[in-house]
Amino acid sequence: MNHKPVAVITGASRGIGRAIAISLASEGFDIAAIARSVDSEGMEILAPEIEKRGAEFFPIGLDISCTGCQTEVVSNILERYGRIDFLVNNAGVAPLQRNDLLEMSEESYNRVMNINLKGPFFFAQKVAKEMIWLKDQISDYKPVIVFISSVSATLSSTNRAEYCISKAGLSMASTIYADRLSKENIRVYEVRPGIVQTDMTIKVKDKYDKMINEGRVPQNRWGIPEDIGKAIASIARGDWDFSTGMVFEISGGLNIHKL
Ligand code: NAP
Repeated sequence: MNHKPVAVITGASRGIGRAIAISLASEGFDIAAIARSVDSEGMEILAPEIEKRGAEFFPIGLDISCTGCQTEVVSNILERYGRIDFLVNNAGVAPLQRNDLLEMSEESYNRVMNINLKGPFFFAQKVAKEMIWLKDQISDYKPVIVFISSVSATLSSTNRAEYCISKAGLSMASTIYADRLSKENIRVYEVRPGIVQTDMTIKVKDKYDKMINEGRVPQNRWGIPEDIGKAIASIARGDWDFSTGMVFEISGGLNIHKL
Protein backbone atom coordinates (compact mmCIF):
# COMPACT_ATOMS: atom_id res chain seq x y z
CA MET A 1 0.00 0.00 0.00
CA ASN A 2 3.04 2.27 -0.06
CA HIS A 3 2.98 2.91 -3.77
CA LYS A 4 2.91 6.56 -4.90
CA PRO A 5 -0.52 8.02 -5.86
CA VAL A 6 -2.13 6.62 -9.00
CA ALA A 7 -4.29 8.48 -11.51
CA VAL A 8 -6.64 6.72 -13.93
CA ILE A 9 -7.54 8.71 -17.03
CA THR A 10 -10.01 7.47 -19.62
CA GLY A 11 -9.49 8.65 -23.19
CA ALA A 12 -5.83 9.35 -22.42
CA SER A 13 -4.45 8.53 -25.88
CA ARG A 14 -5.27 11.86 -27.51
CA GLY A 15 -6.48 15.41 -27.03
CA ILE A 16 -7.65 16.58 -23.63
CA GLY A 17 -7.06 13.22 -21.90
CA ARG A 18 -3.48 13.16 -23.10
CA ALA A 19 -2.81 16.66 -21.67
CA ILE A 20 -4.43 15.60 -18.38
CA ALA A 21 -2.27 12.46 -18.19
CA ILE A 22 0.90 14.50 -18.76
CA SER A 23 -0.05 17.12 -16.21
CA LEU A 24 -0.88 14.49 -13.56
CA ALA A 25 2.42 12.71 -14.24
CA SER A 26 4.11 16.07 -13.55
CA GLU A 27 2.16 16.31 -10.28
CA GLY A 28 3.66 13.03 -9.04
CA PHE A 29 1.06 10.43 -10.05
CA ASP A 30 1.69 7.15 -11.81
CA ILE A 31 -0.62 6.96 -14.81
CA ALA A 32 -3.10 4.24 -15.76
CA ALA A 33 -4.06 5.40 -19.24
CA ILE A 34 -7.25 4.03 -20.76
CA ALA A 35 -8.18 4.16 -24.44
CA ARG A 36 -9.98 1.78 -26.77
CA SER A 37 -6.73 0.07 -27.68
CA VAL A 38 -3.26 -0.05 -26.14
CA ASP A 39 -1.68 -0.36 -29.58
CA SER A 40 -2.60 3.03 -31.00
CA GLU A 41 -0.09 5.62 -32.14
CA GLY A 42 -1.46 7.93 -29.45
CA MET A 43 -0.58 5.52 -26.65
CA GLU A 44 2.86 4.93 -28.15
CA ILE A 45 3.61 8.66 -28.21
CA LEU A 46 2.21 9.20 -24.72
CA ALA A 47 4.34 6.55 -22.96
CA PRO A 48 7.69 8.42 -23.08
CA GLU A 49 5.98 11.71 -22.16
CA ILE A 50 4.78 10.11 -18.93
CA GLU A 51 7.99 8.24 -18.21
CA LYS A 52 10.27 11.25 -18.68
CA ARG A 53 8.32 12.92 -15.86
CA GLY A 54 9.35 10.11 -13.52
CA ALA A 55 5.96 8.38 -13.59
CA GLU A 56 5.00 4.84 -14.51
CA PHE A 57 2.81 4.37 -17.58
CA PHE A 58 0.24 1.58 -17.54
CA PRO A 59 -1.69 1.45 -20.84
CA ILE A 60 -5.10 -0.22 -20.73
CA GLY A 61 -7.51 -1.07 -23.56
CA LEU A 62 -11.16 -0.63 -22.62
CA ASP A 63 -14.26 0.45 -24.48
CA ILE A 64 -15.73 2.54 -21.68
CA SER A 65 -19.28 1.77 -22.83
CA CYS A 66 -18.69 -1.92 -22.05
CA THR A 67 -19.79 -1.78 -18.42
CA GLY A 68 -19.27 -5.54 -18.10
CA CYS A 69 -15.56 -5.11 -18.94
CA GLN A 70 -14.91 -2.40 -16.35
CA THR A 71 -14.55 -4.56 -13.23
CA GLU A 72 -11.57 -6.45 -14.63
CA VAL A 73 -9.84 -3.18 -15.50
CA VAL A 74 -10.30 -1.78 -12.01
CA SER A 75 -9.00 -5.07 -10.56
CA ASN A 76 -5.95 -5.00 -12.82
CA ILE A 77 -5.04 -1.48 -11.71
CA LEU A 78 -5.47 -2.39 -8.04
CA GLU A 79 -3.47 -5.58 -8.47
CA ARG A 80 -0.61 -3.58 -9.95
CA TYR A 81 -0.61 -0.55 -7.65
CA GLY A 82 -2.86 -1.31 -4.68
CA ARG A 83 -4.55 2.09 -5.00
CA ILE A 84 -6.47 4.54 -7.20
CA ASP A 85 -6.24 8.15 -6.01
CA PHE A 86 -7.51 10.21 -8.90
CA LEU A 87 -10.02 9.23 -11.58
CA VAL A 88 -10.65 11.41 -14.61
CA ASN A 89 -13.68 10.32 -16.65
CA ASN A 90 -12.63 12.00 -19.86
CA ALA A 91 -13.32 9.56 -22.75
CA GLY A 92 -16.09 10.84 -24.96
CA VAL A 93 -17.27 11.06 -28.54
CA ALA A 94 -19.20 13.40 -30.80
CA PRO A 95 -21.96 11.97 -32.99
CA LEU A 96 -20.54 10.34 -36.12
CA GLN A 97 -22.74 12.69 -38.11
CA ARG A 98 -24.22 15.99 -37.08
CA ASN A 99 -27.93 15.69 -37.83
CA ASP A 100 -30.84 17.94 -37.03
CA LEU A 101 -32.64 16.89 -33.85
CA LEU A 102 -35.67 15.85 -35.90
CA GLU A 103 -33.51 13.44 -37.95
CA MET A 104 -31.33 12.01 -35.19
CA SER A 105 -31.28 8.21 -35.22
CA GLU A 106 -31.80 5.98 -32.22
CA GLU A 107 -28.52 4.28 -33.10
CA SER A 108 -26.58 7.53 -32.78
CA TYR A 109 -28.41 8.40 -29.55
CA ASN A 110 -27.51 5.03 -28.01
CA ARG A 111 -23.87 5.19 -29.14
CA VAL A 112 -23.26 8.64 -27.69
CA MET A 113 -25.18 8.04 -24.47
CA ASN A 114 -23.44 4.70 -23.84
CA ILE A 115 -19.94 6.13 -24.28
CA ASN A 116 -20.42 9.60 -22.80
CA LEU A 117 -22.82 8.90 -19.94
CA LYS A 118 -23.56 5.25 -19.09
CA GLY A 119 -19.90 4.16 -19.35
CA PRO A 120 -18.44 6.89 -17.10
CA PHE A 121 -21.34 6.67 -14.65
CA PHE A 122 -20.74 2.97 -13.96
CA PHE A 123 -16.97 3.23 -14.13
CA ALA A 124 -17.09 5.95 -11.46
CA GLN A 125 -19.38 3.73 -9.38
CA LYS A 126 -16.87 0.85 -9.44
CA VAL A 127 -13.90 3.10 -8.65
CA ALA A 128 -15.79 4.97 -5.91
CA LYS A 129 -16.54 1.70 -4.08
CA GLU A 130 -12.84 0.82 -4.14
CA MET A 131 -11.93 4.33 -2.95
CA ILE A 132 -14.29 3.96 0.00
CA TRP A 133 -12.51 0.75 0.97
CA LEU A 134 -9.04 2.16 0.30
CA LYS A 135 -9.48 5.20 2.53
CA ASP A 136 -9.30 2.95 5.60
CA GLN A 137 -6.20 1.19 4.26
CA ILE A 138 -3.97 4.08 3.17
CA SER A 139 -2.84 6.93 5.39
CA ASP A 140 -3.01 10.42 3.89
CA TYR A 141 -5.34 9.18 1.12
CA LYS A 142 -7.18 12.02 -0.66
CA PRO A 143 -9.30 10.49 -3.42
CA VAL A 144 -10.77 12.59 -6.22
CA ILE A 145 -13.13 11.88 -9.13
CA VAL A 146 -13.44 14.29 -12.06
CA PHE A 147 -16.00 14.23 -14.86
CA ILE A 148 -15.07 15.99 -18.11
CA SER A 149 -18.39 17.27 -19.39
CA SER A 150 -18.67 20.20 -21.82
CA VAL A 151 -20.18 23.64 -22.25
CA SER A 152 -22.75 21.56 -24.18
CA ALA A 153 -24.14 20.52 -20.80
CA THR A 154 -26.01 23.83 -20.91
CA LEU A 155 -25.59 25.26 -24.45
CA SER A 156 -28.02 23.97 -27.05
CA SER A 157 -26.79 22.67 -30.44
CA THR A 158 -29.74 21.41 -32.43
CA ASN A 159 -27.53 19.33 -34.75
CA ARG A 160 -25.94 17.20 -32.00
CA ALA A 161 -28.65 16.84 -29.41
CA GLU A 162 -27.46 13.42 -28.25
CA TYR A 163 -24.08 14.95 -27.32
CA CYS A 164 -25.67 17.83 -25.39
CA ILE A 165 -28.04 15.47 -23.56
CA SER A 166 -25.18 13.12 -22.63
CA LYS A 167 -23.15 16.01 -21.20
CA ALA A 168 -26.12 17.46 -19.31
CA GLY A 169 -26.61 14.00 -17.79
CA LEU A 170 -22.93 13.73 -16.95
CA SER A 171 -23.11 17.10 -15.22
CA MET A 172 -25.86 15.79 -12.93
CA ALA A 173 -23.94 12.54 -12.41
CA SER A 174 -21.05 14.65 -11.13
CA THR A 175 -23.34 16.55 -8.76
CA ILE A 176 -24.91 13.37 -7.39
CA TYR A 177 -21.55 11.66 -6.90
CA ALA A 178 -20.26 14.78 -5.14
CA ASP A 179 -23.27 14.70 -2.84
CA ARG A 180 -23.12 10.98 -2.04
CA LEU A 181 -19.34 10.78 -1.71
CA SER A 182 -18.88 13.91 0.41
CA LYS A 183 -19.40 11.87 3.57
CA GLU A 184 -16.81 9.38 2.33
CA ASN A 185 -14.21 12.14 2.01
CA ILE A 186 -14.04 11.69 -1.76
CA ARG A 187 -14.09 14.96 -3.66
CA VAL A 188 -15.88 15.14 -7.01
CA TYR A 189 -15.61 17.87 -9.64
CA GLU A 190 -17.05 18.62 -13.06
CA VAL A 191 -14.75 20.19 -15.65
CA ARG A 192 -16.51 21.80 -18.61
CA PRO A 193 -14.26 22.55 -21.59
CA GLY A 194 -15.33 24.99 -24.30
CA ILE A 195 -14.09 24.81 -27.90
CA VAL A 196 -10.79 22.94 -27.75
CA GLN A 197 -8.38 22.04 -30.57
CA THR A 198 -8.42 18.24 -30.74
CA ASP A 199 -9.34 15.46 -33.16
CA MET A 200 -12.94 15.88 -31.99
CA THR A 201 -13.22 19.42 -33.35
CA ILE A 202 -10.99 19.06 -36.41
CA LYS A 203 -13.94 18.19 -38.68
CA VAL A 204 -15.68 21.44 -37.75
CA LYS A 205 -12.58 23.62 -37.53
CA ASP A 206 -13.72 26.12 -40.16
CA LYS A 207 -17.05 26.65 -38.45
CA TYR A 208 -15.41 27.28 -35.07
CA ASP A 209 -12.67 29.46 -36.61
CA LYS A 210 -15.43 31.64 -38.03
CA MET A 211 -17.34 31.77 -34.75
CA ILE A 212 -14.21 32.74 -32.82
CA ASN A 213 -13.29 35.39 -35.42
CA GLU A 214 -16.77 36.83 -35.02
CA GLY A 215 -16.27 37.18 -31.26
CA ARG A 216 -18.37 34.27 -29.97
CA VAL A 217 -15.64 33.33 -27.44
CA PRO A 218 -14.99 36.30 -25.12
CA GLN A 219 -11.30 35.43 -24.67
CA ASN A 220 -11.04 35.27 -28.43
CA ARG A 221 -9.12 32.05 -29.02
CA TRP A 222 -9.43 28.29 -29.30
CA GLY A 223 -8.90 26.34 -26.12
CA ILE A 224 -5.95 23.96 -26.09
CA PRO A 225 -5.82 20.65 -24.21
CA GLU A 226 -3.22 22.08 -21.82
CA ASP A 227 -5.82 24.62 -20.57
CA ILE A 228 -7.71 21.64 -19.15
CA GLY A 229 -4.53 19.88 -17.97
CA LYS A 230 -3.62 22.94 -15.88
CA ALA A 231 -7.00 23.00 -14.14
CA ILE A 232 -6.74 19.30 -13.32
CA ALA A 233 -3.25 19.85 -11.89
CA SER A 234 -4.68 22.54 -9.62
CA ILE A 235 -7.34 20.10 -8.35
CA ALA A 236 -4.67 17.42 -7.88
CA ARG A 237 -2.50 19.79 -5.83
CA GLY A 238 -5.40 20.19 -3.41
CA ASP A 239 -6.17 23.84 -4.26
CA TRP A 240 -9.92 23.05 -4.23
CA ASP A 241 -10.15 20.78 -1.19
CA PHE A 242 -13.21 22.56 0.25
CA SER A 243 -15.14 22.77 -3.03
CA THR A 244 -16.57 19.36 -3.83
CA GLY A 245 -19.30 19.50 -6.45
CA MET A 246 -17.74 22.52 -8.10
CA VAL A 247 -18.04 23.09 -11.84
CA PHE A 248 -14.88 24.39 -13.55
CA GLU A 249 -15.83 26.11 -16.79
CA ILE A 250 -12.73 26.30 -19.00
CA SER A 251 -14.15 27.93 -22.08
CA GLY A 252 -12.64 31.38 -22.50
CA GLY A 253 -15.81 32.95 -21.15
CA LEU A 254 -18.49 31.05 -23.12
CA ASN A 255 -20.28 30.88 -19.78
CA ILE A 256 -20.91 34.65 -19.86
CA HIS A 257 -24.51 35.40 -20.78
CA LYS A 258 -24.58 38.60 -22.79
CA LEU A 259 -27.44 40.94 -23.52
P1 NAP B 1 -10.56 13.24 -28.86
O1 NAP B 1 -9.33 14.00 -29.22
O2 NAP B 1 -11.45 12.73 -29.94
O3 NAP B 1 -10.12 12.02 -27.93
C1 NAP B 1 -11.10 11.15 -27.43
C2 NAP B 1 -10.46 10.18 -26.46
O4 NAP B 1 -11.50 9.34 -25.95
C3 NAP B 1 -9.44 9.27 -27.12
O5 NAP B 1 -8.42 8.99 -26.20
C4 NAP B 1 -10.25 8.03 -27.43
O6 NAP B 1 -9.47 6.85 -27.44
C5 NAP B 1 -11.18 7.99 -26.23
N1 NAP B 1 -12.38 7.21 -26.50
C6 NAP B 1 -13.33 7.45 -27.44
N2 NAP B 1 -14.28 6.51 -27.39
C7 NAP B 1 -13.94 5.67 -26.38
C8 NAP B 1 -14.50 4.49 -25.84
N3 NAP B 1 -15.64 3.99 -26.31
N4 NAP B 1 -13.87 3.87 -24.82
C9 NAP B 1 -12.70 4.37 -24.33
N5 NAP B 1 -12.11 5.47 -24.80
C10 NAP B 1 -12.72 6.11 -25.82
O7 NAP B 1 -11.51 14.08 -27.90
P2 NAP B 1 -11.22 15.34 -26.93
O8 NAP B 1 -11.60 16.54 -27.66
O9 NAP B 1 -9.89 15.22 -26.31
O10 NAP B 1 -12.38 15.09 -25.85
C11 NAP B 1 -12.13 14.56 -24.56
C12 NAP B 1 -13.35 14.82 -23.70
O11 NAP B 1 -13.58 16.23 -23.63
C13 NAP B 1 -14.64 14.23 -24.27
O12 NAP B 1 -15.44 13.74 -23.23
C14 NAP B 1 -15.31 15.42 -24.94
O13 NAP B 1 -16.70 15.29 -25.00
C15 NAP B 1 -14.89 16.54 -24.01
N6 NAP B 1 -14.95 17.86 -24.61
C16 NAP B 1 -14.21 18.16 -25.73
C17 NAP B 1 -14.30 19.44 -26.28
C18 NAP B 1 -13.53 19.87 -27.48
O14 NAP B 1 -13.79 20.97 -27.99
N7 NAP B 1 -12.58 19.10 -27.98
C19 NAP B 1 -15.14 20.39 -25.69
C20 NAP B 1 -15.88 20.05 -24.58
C21 NAP B 1 -15.76 18.78 -24.04
P3 NAP B 1 -8.95 6.16 -28.83
O15 NAP B 1 -7.67 6.87 -29.18
O16 NAP B 1 -8.75 4.75 -28.45
O17 NAP B 1 -10.02 6.38 -29.85
